[in-house]
Amino acid sequence: MKIRDIRAAGLRGATPAGGWQEELTSDDVVHTLVAVHTDEGPIGIGSVFTSEALVRGALEVLRPLLIGEEATEPERVSERLHRATFWLGRGGTVTHTISGIDIALWDVLGQVTGQPVGRLLGGRYRERVRPYASLLMDRPEVLAERLGRLAAQGWTAFKIGWGPFGRVGEDLDERIVAAAREAVGPGAMLMVDAGGSDSAWSNGYKWALRTARMLDRYGVAWFEEPLGPDALDDYVHLRREAPVAISGGEVLTRRQSFHPWLEAGAFDIVQPDVTKVGGLSEQRRIGWAAQDHGVRLIPHGWNTAVGLAADLQLASALPGTDLVEYVTGSPYVDAITTEPWRLDADGMLAIPDAPGLGIRLDPEALARYTDAAALLRP
Ligand SMILES: [Mg+2]
Repeated sequence: MKIRDIRAAGLRGATPAGGWQEELTSDDVVHTLVAVHTDEGPIGIGSVFTSEALVRGALEVLRPLLIGEEATEPERVSERLHRATFWLGRGGTVTHTISGIDIALWDVLGQVTGQPVGRLLGGRYRERVRPYASLLMDRPEVLAERLGRLAAQGWTAFKIGWGPFGRVGEDLDERIVAAAREAVGPGAMLMVDAGGSDSAWSNGYKWALRTARMLDRYGVAWFEEPLGPDALDDYVHLRREAPVAISGGEVLTRRQSFHPWLEAGAFDIVQPDVTKVGGLSEQRRIGWAAQDHGVRLIPHGWNTAVGLAADLQLASALPGTDLVEYVTGSPYVDAITTEPWRLDADGMLAIPDAPGLGIRLDPEALARYTDAAALLRP
């Protein structure tokens, strides 16, 4: 089975705020779906966390390498793309775009073999996984109201991030966390994401250590991106000194970039994004490298239903990955598939066991946000 075509479609019209200093509007495209079409019919779907224009640029470079390639060998084909573009966008746009292609190729392989991708990645350690509700921080009373509503819907784990945290004052930081803990109750998992990869991030190690101690008083499960994304030494020191688990790595791409961080002991939890890092082939290898260093991989997942489906398959195939991120309030996650995601009575998500990624895009629903016909038309 050969690759016949590769198409891209950016999602616009309902892009959620990112909490960024340079904030997104609803029409900004930061999530782009890709579809790999094969000469025998199956179409694989992937998701890329970057703009449509950048994905289209990368596809100009990648298309000649892809057309006519074998459609059922995701790891080899992705590795060929990485190597053939060594001089072109390595680690950036080209790597981001390969992520979506790789996810789509795994989806094709699953459809062709009749197996869920997680089994093809090595086997299913779990049939369901706990999703954590991910939402932006806001004023304490506003945030508490949103968290209370999510808890009432059955969510049991929550991550609050970005917004004013670390950007206004330490008194407000603590009031936000105190209000969140009260809203979700003492038994719920609560995580805090400082968003240290924000363009205007200015706090350093001392702030991060003081804040980690504050978070510990509220039983916070992990402190995410407490430092700038390249501050490797500070991460290493903070992980040793902080009473809470330290997580990060969402902006890193390529498996090779993670080795120095894992070897230095920078993280308790590493958070690559499958829609940026190089796809499932890369993510799986990072997961096993992390495991061998005593580090858990909990995927960064501020993406789409397709990215979530990839994260679920990965979570089935890695022994330590017992949580996935779920962006709450995004129609790109909740409203583009034929079957809506549903929490079970324990607040868990079933990992699809249908072939491939195990989801089906709903072309009509998707058409609200992009040219779905151009993406999916055979
Ligand atoms: Mg984050």
